[in-house]
Amino acid sequence: MPKKYDLYIGGKWFKPSSGSYSPVINPANSQILAQVAEGTKEDAKKAINTAREVFDKGEWSGKPPGERGKLLWKLADLFDSQLKFFAKLESLQTGKTIKYARDSDMPFISDNLRFFAGAGRILEGKAAADYTGGMGLSLIKREPIGVVTAIVPWNYPLYIAVWKIAPALAAGNTLVIKPASITPLTLLEFAKLVEKAGFPKGVFNVVTGPGGIVGSELASNSKVDMATLTGDTNTGKKIMQLASSNLKKVHLELGGKAPLIVLEDADLNAAAEGAVVGAFWNVGQDCTAVTRVYVPEKLEPNFTRMVVEKVKKFRIGNPQDENTDIGPLISAKQRERVENYIKIGQEEGANLIYGGFRPKGKQFEKGFYLTPAIFTNLQTSMKICQEEIFGPVLSIGTYKTLDEAIEKSNSVKYGLASSVWGKDINKCIKVASKLKFGTVWINEHGILVSEMPHGGFKQSGFGKDLSLYSLEEYTQIKHIYIDQTGLARKPWHYVVYGKP
Ligand code: NAD
Repeated sequence: MPKKYDLYIGGKWFKPSSGSYSPVINPANSQILAQVAEGTKEDAKKAINTAREVFDKGEWSGKPPGERGKLLWKLADLFDSQLKFFAKLESLQTGKTIKYARDSDMPFISDNLRFFAGAGRILEGKAAADYTGGMGLSLIKREPIGVVTAIVPWNYPLYIAVWKIAPALAAGNTLVIKPASITPLTLLEFAKLVEKAGFPKGVFNVVTGPGGIVGSELASNSKVDMATLTGDTNTGKKIMQLASSNLKKVHLELGGKAPLIVLEDADLNAAAEGAVVGAFWNVGQDCTAVTRVYVPEKLEPNFTRMVVEKVKKFRIGNPQDENTDIGPLISAKQRERVENYIKIGQEEGANLIYGGFRPKGKQFEKGFYLTPAIFTNLQTSMKICQEEIFGPVLSIGTYKTLDEAIEKSNSVKYGLASSVWGKDINKCIKVASKLKFGTVWINEHGILVSEMPHGGFKQSGFGKDLSLYSLEEYTQIKHIYIDQTGLARKPWHYVVYGKP
């Protein structure tokens, strides 16, 4: 009998008011891993009311940041002590390889918790200053926003959840979070650690259930002060509309369509390696994944040959196997979506030169496997160039001039991440400054650190994850003015310089 998970609200586990549970499937073999509560609007409201009450009491927001940090640090210690368990569960529910889950995703989670445990302690306003010539003093204070709701996707279920949990709690907010329905297990297990760490009840709440029901309540409810989403651009647009009910703050990390530009003097082998790792890491189900490569015309045959040679070395198989590089896609639906784009790419005239088919063999029969696909002859007008595929598809295009490479790179509605590869660093920086993406890596594609921001331009959203910038997203600025004249004044007036 698979394990059953309920809703975590106010430090207690509640059965969903629907009475229903839905299965979570292992995408490598279609086996049921667990049954998870199908939350309803009522359940979401209950969690929001709890988070509201707890925030308004002020016990959490009123704690010294160091106290909150201590709990986050303890949470990181508890998480580290169970890191292998979480890695395995994440790998089982997403199909990501055990080695990436254990050696990359999970350690980044505890690094994030520790970063924000400390960062909360150095949060400060910009100025304590006198702008009035001795009449008074201004103070700037950063305060928590209040009740934050977070909605997270399936590609890095716990890691992206922690990108929101850690800064939101470090800043003194209370939180209601909803995982994607197909990958809720690690977040639900994480809730047990939050409880064990000793966070006050109701500071952290998890409601599982359908996006259109639970998610839309989290975005629209008027008792919520801020809604943060990582997800599809169309979901982001819905969240903005729903959030307008009470003009809550919105923070959106959305889709991507990352280009990788190879300059003429680049180390071609390194750029090919960067393209392959960047494109097929997490089976391409990554918002920063390399999806489009732009390479000088004359270098394209050589570059493409190197890419194909590298991709041929990938071992596709059971994600639990230490030797596996590529596991299954997240679901049958996602595989069909990617296959459809591969078909569209061929119809549009791109050349499918490698992969894009379901691997044969008994071990692949019940999983959602797909071999990495490589296209050449990518053109800007093609759907495979413009739309987010979110799967193992890498497309290679060419350019004659650097301006053309930049224009092609910027030709999409997305603006999350990009990279430039070349030996002349000044040239790389010039290109980087013209790219309309929130991140530009030079001679690298995909590295993230807790200290630096991650977030999009254009329709990839706004607001940052990671870094002090992210912590600031979860605060609001208050100006406190202290009068030092002791004189009674008219209530409204301005101090103006350079009067006409
Ligand atoms: P999705 O938008 O379908 O779902 C994300 C979350 O939103 C899920 O929890 C889902 O249940 C919820 N949701 C769906 N419809 C909703 C609605 N109408 N109202 C409220 N909530 C709703 O995205 P996904 O398929 O889970 O994830 C893939 C997408 O996420 C891709 O577009 C990818 O680029 C993006 N992503 C972005 C980043 C980033 O940092 N920018 C990181 C990872 C993933």
